[in-house]
Amino acid sequence: MNPAVQAVDVTDAHRRIAGLVQTTPLVCSQSLSALLNHDVRLKLESVQETGSFKLRGAFNRLLTLSVEEKSRGVVTLSTGNHGRAVAFAGKKLGIRTVVCLTSLVPANKVEAIRALGAEVHIAGADQDIVEAEVDRLAAREGLVVVSPFDDPEIIAGQGTIGLELLAQQPDLSAVIVPLSGGGLISGIALAMKAVRPEMRVIGVTMDNGPAMVLSQQAGQPVSVEELPSLADSLTGGIGLANKHTFGLVRDLVDEMVLVSEAEIADGLRHAYEQERLIIEGGAAVGIAALLARRITLPAGPVAVILSGRNVNIPMLTKLLHGEDGSADGGVVA
Ligand SMILES: *Cc1c(COP(=O)(O)O)cnc(C)c1O
Repeated sequence: MNPAVQAVDVTDAHRRIAGLVQTTPLVCSQSLSALLNHDVRLKLESVQETGSFKLRGAFNRLLTLSVEEKSRGVVTLSTGNHGRAVAFAGKKLGIRTVVCLTSLVPANKVEAIRALGAEVHIAGADQDIVEAEVDRLAAREGLVVVSPFDDPEIIAGQGTIGLELLAQQPDLSAVIVPLSGGGLISGIALAMKAVRPEMRVIGVTMDNGPAMVLSQQAGQPVSVEELPSLADSLTGGIGLANKHTFGLVRDLVDEMVLVSEAEIADGLRHAYEQERLIIEGGAAVGIAALLARRITLPAGPVAVILSGRNVNIPMLTKLLHGEDGSADGGVVA
């Protein structure tokens, strides 16, 4: 067990952020249940304010800053949704927020972060350059660095989804979770396995630069080339100096599954056409893995986390018309 973050921290986070985030619905997927002849439920983090689950970790992290740290403000790097969540929480709590982004972040996400009053720095296409910019700003302006995933309070905040799932559907046998840096899946696994150790926790990510999967295969964090993907919110590395999520994923995640860009496109189309849900590529990987029959489901109801809805609409429109949305991927140059 990683001593830095435990199930009790998720329970504390749950109490701390109650009233600031939505308890999101868990709904039956008629289409996937019929197609797979299995009870499939969808956890709609897509209806969270700011459009993704990242608000849970962001509020929990900012609320656990000391008074002195709150007065200094925070700086963070993000593929978009974390930055937007920190900007939202910072505005609500009156904390200065600086967000550093790579140029791979879609324009819709950049604009949403600016609109919340955060200071935005677009440092370059490479995550390493953006990390250097975060360190530079932290040193120069005395800002507290808030990691998007490798932080005990962020992990605990995301884990509150697991507590909601246990209350909403106590007999779940598995949970299918989009995976990037691993904060989301680590928190959910901590919360759920503390109560239901036999729960299967399955991570899904994209073929295009699956940093956590390659790191687990190597037995240590490795750097991966960052490639554009329909699942833009899953791109980026896990940090060569990863302190928490690498070990938590190794110890708690039962299976990791990869999906192709075409499969993610199928997942997005399925969500829209069959479920009448608008979600983003990073949130569609669970549906994509199920449609591609890449997961063997255990008996009993399973939950799929639909982690966000901040899709670039022109890209989604192209996909729905049968075009290959990856041509521009909704990505700003
Ligand atoms: C951040 C994010 C993820 C992945 O979360 P990690 O904690 O980095 O694994 C999945 N889906 C969406 C929509 C996200 O914004």
